[in-house]
Amino acid sequence: MTSQMEKIVSLAKRRGFVFPSSEIYGRLESCYDYGPLGVELKNNIKSAWWKAMVQSREDVVGQDASILMHPKIWEASGHVEGFTDPLVDCKSCKKRFRADHIVKTDGPMTPQWMKKNFEDKKPKCPECGGELTPIRKFNLMLKTHLGPVEDEGTTVYMRPETAQAIYVDFDIIMKSSRKRLPFGIAQIGKAFRNEITPGDFIFRTREFEQMEMQWFVKPSPQTLSQEGEGRVRGGTPEEWFEYWKKKRMQWYLDLGIKKERLRFREQEKDELAHYAKKAVDIEYNFPFGWKEIEGIHNRGNWDLSRHSEYSGKDLSVMDEETKEKYIPWVIETSAGADRTALAFLLDAYEEIAGGRTTTTESAKEAETVLRFSKTLAPVKIAVLPLSKKEELSSVAKNIANDLRKHWTVDYDETASIGRRYRRQDEIGTLFAVTIDFETLEDKKVTVRDRDTMKQDRVAISELEKYFSNKFK
Ligand SMILES: [Zn+2]
Repeated sequence: MTSQMEKIVSLAKRRGFVFPSSEIYGRLESCYDYGPLGVELKNNIKSAWWKAMVQSREDVVGQDASILMHPKIWEASGHVEGFTDPLVDCKSCKKRFRADHIVKTDGPMTPQWMKKNFEDKKPKCPECGGELTPIRKFNLMLKTHLGPVEDEGTTVYMRPETAQAIYVDFDIIMKSSRKRLPFGIAQIGKAFRNEITPGDFIFRTREFEQMEMQWFVKPSPQTLSQEGEGRVRGGTPEEWFEYWKKKRMQWYLDLGIKKERLRFREQEKDELAHYAKKAVDIEYNFPFGWKEIEGIHNRGNWDLSRHSEYSGKDLSVMDEETKEKYIPWVIETSAGADRTALAFLLDAYEEIAGGRTTTTESAKEAETVLRFSKTLAPVKIAVLPLSKKEELSSVAKNIANDLRKHWTVDYDETASIGRRYRRQDEIGTLFAVTIDFETLEDKKVTVRDRDTMKQDRVAISELEKYFSNKFK
């Protein structure tokens, strides 16, 4: 039996969604490349997020910051000091392990826990029984150098999260966009973490893409006034936390993820970052277990206080009515674009034993359908002339070129029509337009729906209008 993950990994590679990076050089561990269909899928996810979080709201603005930032930012954020994994090395076989891979724990690896389980008990190497070195802290940030001289002064970090750029630019963005609290700043971008144990395909990688929104809100209680969707003004951090929690869950449901595969999980007190007031994960039921795809965090005033302190720039804001100054609190929504893409892929995947169609030679093989939503499907329409004959293909190519002005279109004229339907179903194409010999007479084509397999006969002149209604 092939596991569902193996099937997805194999399909993703075979059809050009996602595959290992640098493969002709033997690949680079935990790095992946998105192929032609994968980049469409991921772009669709990102633009759906951007539309929901920025463009359709009057109270959120966007930004696209530099990946390399002033190194002091990571001192202020706590990443230089605290963003570490405890590691031990085996003195005999030289293998390196993360401490909690030798002594299992569900809680955080506190100094007390490390002393009790390592200094006192002195566990042996799980591979060879050899003696282990004392625990060393290993920082997860990737370092690089700016300029030609590799000395301390030029060390910079690849950002381990996009959020810090938003805090650092908070003041200039608020003033230049003339926003008043509460409002948000959103960003999509790459981040880097030197994970000791990456894995589960694109779920945990060292280079990844985040979709984050930081919501700035006044800490003291205010009156929550409902003025309709997206216009909730005022509100306490706690109320906004609940608001964003619901909003973010609904986003996944609207894009078609099955409800029973999603859940909230509130982080326990001992899991919380020391500054965090509250944190809830949105988890997806992956084949390797329930795992976080997004976190919603109440970060208090930690971020802006720290950057005020470390930069010397006062990041507090003035309440126009009471004239009191305060440091805003932050509610963060932080999603991973890659693990979200994996969740959408897995969720869309359906295998039908024996196949759905019974009219072709391929009828009895198992059939795969990726049931992507209209928004996320990488290819919206396939154009398939029944034969390669010039009289059909010239009509078909014209139709494909017309539709391509509005939607992503795949043109395919090889193999039997049954095979070609299967190829399209396997990548989640929503509609297939077939051009047959009758088309030459009646100027009509057959449109097949991926999910219902229902066929409509539509006039070529009406085709654009037909699809405009479908994609409304
Ligand atoms: Zn060993």
